[in-house]
Amino acid sequence: MILDGKEIALRLQNEIRTNVEELKKRLVSPALAVIQVGEEKASESYAKNIRKEGEALGIYVEHHKLSVEISEEDLLYNIRNLNARKDIHGILVELPLPAHINKAKVVEAIAPEKDVDGFHPINFGKLFEGTTPFPPATAQAIITAIKSVVTIEGKFAVIVGRSNIVGKPTAVLLLQENATITIAHSRTRNLQDLTKMADILVVSVGKPKLIGRDFVKPGAVVIDAGINKIDGKLVGDVDFDSVKDEASYITPVPGGIGVLTTLMLFRNTVKAATLQNRIV
Ligand code: NDP
Repeated sequence: MILDGKEIALRLQNEIRTNVEELKKRLVSPALAVIQVGEEKASESYAKNIRKEGEALGIYVEHHKLSVEISEEDLLYNIRNLNARKDIHGILVELPLPAHINKAKVVEAIAPEKDVDGFHPINFGKLFEGTTPFPPATAQAIITAIKSVVTIEGKFAVIVGRSNIVGKPTAVLLLQENATITIAHSRTRNLQDLTKMADILVVSVGKPKLIGRDFVKPGAVVIDAGINKIDGKLVGDVDFDSVKDEASYITPVPGGIGVLTTLMLFRNTVKAATLQNRIV
């Protein structure tokens, strides 16, 4: 069966809207600042999507579009200003950044309590401890999608891809949900032998059709986080047509994990506003 991100998204949107209304009743209007450096098409459309989704949820999105030539110092100054503002609860710096800017310095400049992406070293450390208020958005989206169809506890989960953005945080959250996990990557030997054992298979690699039918255990839940463009069409890392009859559930691309990711960012923003205003 197709694990439809759009259906889960509707539920999530309602949950977030209700929480936003609760905050507004207490005179807190949740707000997210999005910093975009340069005018790359992908960053541009990501910012546009965030603004649109924010509007639909009643969350204010302040878009800071900065020149590609901005100095690192000026960018850090902008972040510090946002850190100091009481009316901004979350800060998102769009990646990638131009080569002359040190990404680590930028991520570390964001106040941890406003780091709704969850990549500040303090929050990333807390992720492993199980105490971060802001689990990274894509990993949260993946866990939410899996939980909507199966119980995670006791399952054997294989995560293909070990990026800090998707693979690692997803593995940590699955472990917290009491799955037994294995993480595979480009140097993993006999990938297929591993993936064929997985009750839950999560793929985040960036290679179209990497995972075909022969890589999947019958009845497995298959989550495809990959986003690739082929001839102008979006496809995932899983060969959907060949795997769909083998898996019990499979997320499509588009319409799967991608749909949920931005919503998780807003869920984190609402959480940030709640914590900053000491509302329990
Ligand atoms: P990275 O490029 O940072 O990581 C890719 C991972 O895949 C690496 O760990 C790499 O291994 C591993 N890998 C590469 N080739 C193979 C292979 N043949 N077999 C097994 N593992 C392999 O990518 P991201 O995690 O950032 O992104 C992956 C995909 O997910 C992309 O398509 C991206 O667009 C998409 N994405 C989707 C999001 C969403 O919200 N849905 C959010 C972020 C990304 P090694 O570490 O050894 O190099």
